[in-house]
Amino acid sequence: MTEIIDGNAVAESIRADLASEIDRLADAGVRPTLATVLMTDDPASETYVSMKQGDCEEVGIETVDVDIDPEAPAEELYDTIDDLNADDDVDGILVQMPVPEHVDKREVLRRIDPAKDADGFHPENVGRLVAGNPRFIPCTPHGIVKLLDSVGVDPEGKDAVVVGRSDIVGKPMANLLVQKAAGGNATVTVCHSRTADLAAKTRQADILVAAAGVPEMIDGEMLSEGVTVIDVGINRVDADTEKGYELVGDVDFESAKAKASAITPVPGGVGPMTRAMLLWNTVKAAADDASVAVDLP
Ligand code: NAD
Repeated sequence: MTEIIDGNAVAESIRADLASEIDRLADAGVRPTLATVLMTDDPASETYVSMKQGDCEEVGIETVDVDIDPEAPAEELYDTIDDLNADDDVDGILVQMPVPEHVDKREVLRRIDPAKDADGFHPENVGRLVAGNPRFIPCTPHGIVKLLDSVGVDPEGKDAVVVGRSDIVGKPMANLLVQKAAGGNATVTVCHSRTADLAAKTRQADILVAAAGVPEMIDGEMLSEGVTVIDVGINRVDADTEKGYELVGDVDFESAKAKASAITPVPGGVGPMTRAMLLWNTVKAAADDASVAVDLP
C-alpha cells in the first residue's frame, strides 16, 4: 500500500507544538511578531500574505502588516525594511515575492536583518545553511525534511533526486539532503531545465523531490518501485470546475502512486508545511532574540 503523506496533519501537529512554545515565551514576557510587507496588487500574493497572517494569529504570533503602493519608489520598500529591522517589537520580516520590476530583489534580501530573516533567503543565512550551521531554513525545503521524518524516511545513504534548482526550493533542498546531519546524508542529484536525460536520473531516486513548476511532468514510468515522492509543484490547469481550473503538482499522481511507497498529494502535501515552517522561523527568531530556550518541533 502506498502511504499518502498528509501534510495537513503534520503541519497541524507542528503548529500545536509551536503554540506551546509560544506559551512558554509568553511566560518569559516575549510575544513573537512577524512583519509582512506586500508591494503588489497581485491577488494571489495578497491571498498568500493574508493566509500567513491568519496562521500567525491562530498560534499566537502577532503580525504587523505593511502595504506599499507597487508604483512607489524602491526606496520606500528599502526604508520600510530598515524601520522594521530597527523595531525591537518585530522578530521576523517577510517581504512577499515577487516585488515590482523596479525594485532590486537582491537588495531586498540583503537588506533584511539576517536575525529577522523569516524566509531564510538572506545571503548570510544561505551561506550558513550551505556551511552546515543553519539559522533560518527556507520554509518549503524545511517542511519537506519534516514530512520525510513524519513517515520514517531517513535520507541517509539513499539516492535523492531534486528536480529544480531555484533559490527558494531546489538549491536549499539539495543542500539539506546532502548535509552531514539528521535529515541529510543522502547522495544528491540536482536536475534542471538543461538536464540531458531526466528520466534516467529520476529512476535512480529513492527519494524524489519535484519542484519544476511543470504540470505532471514526472510520471510513474520515470520512477522506480518503492520511491518516496515529494511533489512541491502547484500548477493551475484548465478544468471543468466552478473556478475553471484545478491545481496539480509536477507529478502525475496516479501513475506515480502505483510505483511509490509514499507520496504527497497536491494540494495537502508540501503547501501546508511551507506555511507551518514560517511560524517555526518566527518563533525561533523571537526566542533567539530574547535568549529564551525553546524546544522547536
Ligand atoms: P522556479 O520556476 O523558480 O524554478 C523551477 C526550476 O525547475 C528551475 O530551476 C528549472 O531549471 C527547473 N525546471 C523547469 N522545467 C524543467 C524541466 N522540464 N525539467 C527539469 N527541470 C525543469 O520555481 P520554484 O519557485 O522553485 O517552484 C517550483 C514549483 O513549486 C512551482 O510550481 C511553485 O508554484 C511550487 N512551489 C510550491 C511551494 C509549496 O509550498 N508547495 C513553495 C514554493 C514553490
